Amino acid sequence: MPRKARLYIDANATVPPLAEVAQAATEAMASAWGNPSSQHTEGRAARRLVQTARADIAALLGVPETWLTFTSGGTEAINMWLHGLRTAITPARRVVLTTSGEHPAVRMPLAHLAETGTIDVELVPTDRLGRIASSDLEAAIARIGAPRVLTAMLIAAHNETGGMQDLAALTAICKSHGVLAFFDGVQWTGKAPIDIGNLGIDGWPVSFHKFGGPKGIGVLAARPGVLQSPLIAGGPQEKRRRGGTENVPGIAGAGIAAKLALSLLDERRARWRQTLNDLRAGLRLVWPDVEFVHDELGLPQTLLTRFPGWKGTEMAQRLDLEGIAVSTGSACASGAQRASEALLRMGITEAEAEELVRFSLPPHYSDDLVAEVCRTLSDIRN
Ligand code: PLP
Repeated sequence: MPRKARLYIDANATVPPLAEVAQAATEAMASAWGNPSSQHTEGRAARRLVQTARADIAALLGVPETWLTFTSGGTEAINMWLHGLRTAITPARRVVLTTSGEHPAVRMPLAHLAETGTIDVELVPTDRLGRIASSDLEAAIARIGAPRVLTAMLIAAHNETGGMQDLAALTAICKSHGVLAFFDGVQWTGKAPIDIGNLGIDGWPVSFHKFGGPKGIGVLAARPGVLQSPLIAGGPQEKRRRGGTENVPGIAGAGIAAKLALSLLDERRARWRQTLNDLRAGLRLVWPDVEFVHDELGLPQTLLTRFPGWKGTEMAQRLDLEGIAVSTGSACASGAQRASEALLRMGITEAEAEELVRFSLPPHYSDDLVAEVCRTLSDIRN
């Protein structure tokens, strides 16, 4: 018998919009439908919503509001960073330093620019969880020659393993060599504290649907003066950094998601940690040979798990039939039925990768989640 209420444990793919977010977005559609660029009352009402959201997002990230440009999501924010640097690329300074474990949102635009001869891409190694050792970043910059490196583009928290970087150490290394420090913060934001301004980070993309905001809205936080050319040219919106009438309902919802993430972060993190501890203990009991590909100091709501001898796709399907939604890898890759390329490049074997199942907790879930997952897995095994 499938469960009556489904259990959604695939937050790193997306999170259902929080009730407060849905309400804010709906209200914005109904009553703040003016064009934020207009000078009349209707326009001003929409503009106020955008300003409030920008302030709440700036507070979450630890940057002045002037750093923020709204985008359609994480992928656009990453592309905006790269495009914004194009005029800074010279024959002598055209290396982008990245890792082999990046999400396609970073990997693909870099591959495209490398193929078209615009940049050179160099890799810094990671461990199996996608984490970079400071000494490896130092060594990579020394090997290439610091003056040649324009920017590092490094995943902050890994979408599949939950592995997290030492942002302070890596940023300090970039700064000491004059390299722009960009981190893909899409999975970090809303799940761990971040203070971009104090750390000295130069670029950080956010995708709000990863922590309860609407889909199709993101932001790029970038140090003023770094972005020189707009990815989307058009009207004067976003200080001419992104043309086009703003997505006011999306922005209003994003602001509420940011506000809640900031005020509830400690509470959410404590509950996530406890639940993951209980989940690990429960899984060991019902599935003694279970393995965890897990960073105990990483994202508090992500647990990549291997059930030896069971294909991850089969396990995810069985769980889905029982009312439990999990993922076998990156959401963007699902449907492809192939082991995640990022995991393979990080040193996980193909055989291992095929047996992985990712549990990632959203902000809201029922107290019986661990008991229900363990009971269901015990049924599947027996
Ligand atoms: N970067 C990481 C690490 C991600 O996990 C994702 C989405 O899964 C993205 C970037 C892209 O975000 P979006 O799909 O919202 O554009």
